[in-house]
Amino acid sequence: MTNNKPSILIAGAGPVGLVAANIFADAGISVAVFEADAELPTTLRASTFQPSTLDYLDRFGISKQLISQGLIAPRMQYRDRQGWMVELNFGSISQDTHHPYRVQCEQYKLTKLLADRLLQFAHAKIYFSTQVSAVTQSNQGVSVHLDSPHEQKVINGDWLIGADGGRSRVRDAIGIKLGGFTWPERFLVASTPFDFPSVIPNLCEVSYFADPQEWFFLLYVSGLWRVMIPIDANENDTQALSDNSIQNRLQRIYQKAGDYEIRHRTIYNVHQRVADRYRNGRVFLAGDSAHLNNPLGGMGMNGGIHDAFTLADLLVKVQQGESPSSHLDLYEQKRRPIALEYVNTITIANKHNLETKDPQEQKSWREQMTKIASDQSLAREYLLKVSMIASLRKQEQGTYVL
Ligand SMILES: Cc1cc2nc3c(=O)[nH]c(=O)nc-3n(C[C@H](O)[C@H](O)[C@H](O)COP(=O)(O)OP(=O)(O)OC[C@H]3O[C@@H](n4cnc5c(N)ncnc54)[C@H](O)[C@@H]3O)c2cc1C
Repeated sequence: MTNNKPSILIAGAGPVGLVAANIFADAGISVAVFEADAELPTTLRASTFQPSTLDYLDRFGISKQLISQGLIAPRMQYRDRQGWMVELNFGSISQDTHHPYRVQCEQYKLTKLLADRLLQFAHAKIYFSTQVSAVTQSNQGVSVHLDSPHEQKVINGDWLIGADGGRSRVRDAIGIKLGGFTWPERFLVASTPFDFPSVIPNLCEVSYFADPQEWFFLLYVSGLWRVMIPIDANENDTQALSDNSIQNRLQRIYQKAGDYEIRHRTIYNVHQRVADRYRNGRVFLAGDSAHLNNPLGGMGMNGGIHDAFTLADLLVKVQQGESPSSHLDLYEQKRRPIALEYVNTITIANKHNLETKDPQEQKSWREQMTKIASDQSLAREYLLKVSMIASLRKQEQGTYVL
């Protein structure tokens, strides 16, 4: 490990930690990223890149590469099993973004691009198999205690960003609680190469199916359809992940002869949680360490990347002497209300609209979405919210109410 003291320490080489690290590297500020895993994680997780995030990533010149490795999704649909459908086209926000579409691409392809870019800077380092186990701080700086297979070490820096995910060790170390709740049900995700568009008329790449018995979500990524379905609290993981359970669920979406080919399967807990604070002294939380939400809407990773840009831009100005350190309070003031009042509200509403058993609520949501989809101005306003452009505008204006 280098003996030069890095200015910025970052726990976690996920999308959030690596976006922040690239901003510091670009500004000529020395940065060290500590990653517990032996290499960049390649587990299947987020796959939706919102227009607002693609606009941000243009700063690194990597949006084009990311897009070329993914799929451009210019439309999204809300549907039900009885044939009701509305479609929204991101062309309605072409005046508001350089990317009037979502990109469906695995999150690990972004982290690879970010890490490759970062490692071209001599003043940036990523330390793998290196877990941040404790944090101490004073007025002068912050120290991270690192555990790696062959040594334990303490490294000092000026500031620390805890971008170490939902179970953040950094968050625990600085005594910040994660408020909110965990849903009783979990979400199952299964991927199949089955050609759903050949049996579901006019299906587009991002389609949410409302249903009071069993809603589902179909998303096309890298030649596979990802199917997301809720799993009741009293069904255990082994049951839910069994061939039998997945086949039955897929057959309920479309009854076909023979089994579906399943390429991946996973099940996970779903939370609506926001950290009580985003900062303690010289330590900040960003991304999943600061907030967790259900994935209906594709806002988790995107919101985390927006955190990283907001925080790192503020820190660069402070490190370069352009802003007083008191400006760092703006990070929590700008980003925490977005997580609490914007992302939470939208993702909870998305879930509710898909699952509600109340016939009146089902009817009024379908009517509302039909109206929005058929009115250019309402569609634009809706897509600005969905694509998180509205949240960034609200953050700049300091108004957060939806
Ligand atoms: C199945 C699934 C589907 C999802 N789909 C979407 C989606 O469609 N759209 C969307 O926007 N979001 C989605 N999300 C959420 C998204 O994956 C997360 O919001 C995103 O990964 C958060 O990035 P992060 O960098 O904050 O944390 P992470 O990606 O979790 O990265 C944290 C990193 O820190 C490392 N680490 C952990 N502890 C330590 C430690 N003590 N020391 C050092 N390193 C440590 C971890 O190994 C990891 O590499 C999904 C999540 C899941 C689980």
